[in-house]
Amino acid sequence: MRAYPIRVKHTTQSPIIHTPKRPRRGSRPLIPLRSWPMQVLQGIPVSSGVVIGRVAVLDDIASPRIPRRAIASGDVESEIARFESARASSVAELNTLHTEAQEELGPEAAKIFLFHIGALSDKRAVTDPIHEKIRTDLVTAEYATWRILHELAQKFASKSDTTFRTKVSDLTDLQHRMLRHLVGAKLDEPKRLEHDTVIVSRDLTPSQTAAFDRDRIVAFATDLGGRTSHTAIVSRALGLPAVVGCSRLTKLAEEGETIIVDGTRGKVILDPDDATIAEYRDLDVAAKARIEALSKLAELPAVTTDGVEIELLGNIEFPDELIKVLAAGGTGVGLYRTEFLYLTSNHAPTEEEHYQAYAECVKLAGGRPLTIRTMDLGADKYTQMQAETPERNPFLGLRSIRYCLQNLPMFKAQLRALLRASAHGPMRVMFPLVTNIGEFRQARMILRDAMEDLEDQGLAYDRNIPVGMMVEVPSVALMAPTFAREADFFSVGTNDLVQYTLAVDRTNERVANLYTPAHPAVLRLVRDVVRASGRYECPVSCCGEAAGDLDFAPLLLGLGVRTLSVTPSGIPPLKRLIRALSLTDCERIVKRAIAFDSESQAADYTRDHLRRLAPEVFDGRAVDEPTGL
Ligand code: PEP
Ligand code: MG
Repeated sequence: MRAYPIRVKHTTQSPIIHTPKRPRRGSRPLIPLRSWPMQVLQGIPVSSGVVIGRVAVLDDIASPRIPRRAIASGDVESEIARFESARASSVAELNTLHTEAQEELGPEAAKIFLFHIGALSDKRAVTDPIHEKIRTDLVTAEYATWRILHELAQKFASKSDTTFRTKVSDLTDLQHRMLRHLVGAKLDEPKRLEHDTVIVSRDLTPSQTAAFDRDRIVAFATDLGGRTSHTAIVSRALGLPAVVGCSRLTKLAEEGETIIVDGTRGKVILDPDDATIAEYRDLDVAAKARIEALSKLAELPAVTTDGVEIELLGNIEFPDELIKVLAAGGTGVGLYRTEFLYLTSNHAPTEEEHYQAYAECVKLAGGRPLTIRTMDLGADKYTQMQAETPERNPFLGLRSIRYCLQNLPMFKAQLRALLRASAHGPMRVMFPLVTNIGEFRQARMILRDAMEDLEDQGLAYDRNIPVGMMVEVPSVALMAPTFAREADFFSVGTNDLVQYTLAVDRTNERVANLYTPAHPAVLRLVRDVVRASGRYECPVSCCGEAAGDLDFAPLLLGLGVRTLSVTPSGIPPLKRLIRALSLTDCERIVKRAIAFDSESQAADYTRDHLRRLAPEVFDGRAVDEPTGL
């Protein structure tokens, strides 16, 4: 579990977004009272459920910039003494953390702190250069510390060996620790978090989200982010309510105060009054009753009223989620995002670690469909601190299959592990973000190389393992026949397909209103992919978040998609909708929607029709409640 600093915030302004008329609640012991009444913020709902907890404000993980401040030559020795005192305090803390980690997590996990201690004791690379900088450049201890550790992190980031690159975040952690001692910010590690903690943060990386202590953290709420950002996807995988895009939340929230996160309606309520707390307790009870009722569908098939069976699979980020998929009534896995193996670890996974994860999945799947996607690192699934060279447009940069093709030892280790796991049961391999046929061919060639290596070593694997690809960029959708002739299967990734077709950043809350899979341009691309899939016998499924959106999934069915892969909690409501609709209705709706000029006409038309056709599925939901997410 990685430690992230938590800061105490003191907010002086009182911008009121919404002040209810209800009387303010009486004083509560232990919880700091705000100097203004309850506030309701509207954000983007990304993981449903309601939680009442306490705020913990998380520092930005980006390295703080320390301004260069000059000192007088007479202050050099006292600045060096300040640096040495901060170093001694940091080493003492790290020794304690090392002992605790050894007891709680074992020697392997505790090693990380030895690296930190070693770095702070390294005369050549760290302490001498910092002394030197203070002495010759006449700068403060904090500036010299920040500068030297920053330069060291950049040097590590530029190495081709991943062992160095994975240490970059350690150096950043170390920099934070030293600076907290030097500039006096409060040090507070997440292990001190209370139960029922709601993480409030400007933004979160997917790896941070996945690394939090699941026993203590009950929800997330952030200033930034979009509906299909990977933080949103991980919150859903963890089953934690989350609201993103609340703009000024971190400015308004106070450490330790009561907060309600309504991940179903996208509301965040700071310092709620008694009546609001009671209202939310009732909503929570009603939501749980709804989930309980839906769970009865788990054993039933996902079949439309006119008898067409739809295959409902689950998307997973961690192998043990497969259990949730099956419990929810899914019949296999349509997308395993293996990059989380990388993101939740502080070192590049070894072939053996890859193999263990995939073999576990194959075992848990027990012969059911299992599609494992090779690592989709980059963009928001790779902190820019880790990137060799920070990119100006990471979503258009070195991500996914492009990254793998430039990091062959890492890619090959994963492919070997996948193949070895394929000896234990059925599995399909899928490449992400293919944009041209050369990439697909190259990736498949490397897979064949890995097969030959295994053959030479006498290791077993499935020689006929199906090899497919994601369809998540317009270039592939437009040339779908070319790819369908060579790929064994397609999976449409609407999260990226929408982003790249409409030029809307999927993680940016400021353009979230423009992000819609119901845009006729997106519908036409999906239609063309489905047509090519039929013509060249290349089965197609959809695994983007839109597949679990009750307002969009019927359009996919109408276009001819018969396999949907969604987050495990999205399976029961989707099954209920499928069982309430006929395929003929779905075909009729999409025929009209695809012909509209605008996305709003297409979305409104679809919404209205679905509510008329299956009112019981949509009844009882709040007007702004997301239907499938
Ligand atoms: C997608 O783009 O729709 C997809 C499933 O991939 P990811 O969300 O991991 O980018
Ligand atoms: Mg994608």
